[in-house]
Amino acid sequence: MKTTLNLILIIISLVFFQMQSKGQGVECGTDYIHKNQMQTDSAYRKQIVTLESQVEAITQKQANNKLRSSLYTIPVVVHVIHLGEPIGTGSNISDIQIQEAIAGLNDRFSNGNGLGVDVELEFCLASKDPNGNSTNGINRVDGSIVANYSANGITPTGNPCSGAIETDIKDLSRWPVSDYYNIWVVSEICNGAFVGYASYPVGGLYDGLVIVSTSMTSTSGTLPHEVGHGFFLYHTFSGDGGNVSCPVDTNCLMNGDNICDTPPHKQGDCGTTNPCTLAGVWDNSRYNYMSYCPLVNRFTQGQKDRIIATVMVAPRASLLNSLGCGTVGINESSSSDIFSVFPNPAHSLINVKVDIKLLGSSYVVYDNAGKIILKGIITSEDTIIELGTLSGGIYLFSLGENLKQSFKVIKE
Ligand SMILES: [Zn+2]
Repeated sequence: MKTTLNLILIIISLVFFQMQSKGQGVECGTDYIHKNQMQTDSAYRKQIVTLESQVEAITQKQANNKLRSSLYTIPVVVHVIHLGEPIGTGSNISDIQIQEAIAGLNDRFSNGNGLGVDVELEFCLASKDPNGNSTNGINRVDGSIVANYSANGITPTGNPCSGAIETDIKDLSRWPVSDYYNIWVVSEICNGAFVGYASYPVGGLYDGLVIVSTSMTSTSGTLPHEVGHGFFLYHTFSGDGGNVSCPVDTNCLMNGDNICDTPPHKQGDCGTTNPCTLAGVWDNSRYNYMSYCPLVNRFTQGQKDRIIATVMVAPRASLLNSLGCGTVGINESSSSDIFSVFPNPAHSLINVKVDIKLLGSSYVVYDNAGKIILKGIITSEDTIIELGTLSGGIYLFSLGENLKQSFKVIKE
């Protein structure tokens, strides 16, 4: 009897270990939603195609300039959409659990285990709310008032499952996506079909990440996986047709996950050799946070380059300029509220974000001695200016009519 009980306990622990160590205990819903939108929403498709070409161009420049990024900080707000339980019970997870989950996320993005690369992107729970008031970055709302939420959780838009309407849940609590990365912690997604899903970077009111409360933990592989999607990473097995065939592999920048150091594979292939190809470092895919394999433990340099390129352009770029964590990515300013320059200090590129009324304005970059170094015209609300050939030091960036608006820019 005792032996049987022990055996049952061992089996239960093995199953539990398997679930804990697996990147995705149950499927991630991102692909499903993305494919649906690509097919049905032409504006969405256009945004993704545009972003893809921007990210590819920046990635190429990074490679040419050997860009080393600074540490970028992303303000995060966590909305806990619970079922009316007391704090710390059931889906109404505690502040400490959330803080530890964000710490675990940062550990994975900073390569805490030394097995991958440091993405140099960190996440901070917001310390200032959209009105400038102090906050711990956590909002709690009873979601049981929304129809079908208690029974089946949230339904990602376009999915046929019978949970609550996604936008009704997100409308309970959301902060501007230009200043915060929104994470909604929910009781369930599609009655347990998914553990998480994220929006690719397209902005809008509902951009962000949805994760079930049981996966919002310090050891979660789901959280870094979904944040990876949120910063434009695809699955390492992208293009396998749902574990059907090896992804096309003729141009690693344009096939599969569009990343060159993650060999293409099928979702279910996680063994010691990759049946799809012998090229590349197989461990980079089978142990990747963006796979569905067990024992995930790394992001790669190629994924980092793509994430950092994504952070340089809209809609994620504005997060670097947010006051959400009580700091701002700019160094000195003449209190201009109509344009901003970031990151600052910069290495090779600066991103200039301007109010629409400044489109067509000229800009000038002066060196310390007042000599004009660069000049040009602002043609987009988000303009990237290359500083690659300039030597390190302090420059003055001026913009607008009579060049009255100016920032100091530090080139490292
Ligand atoms: Zn996924």
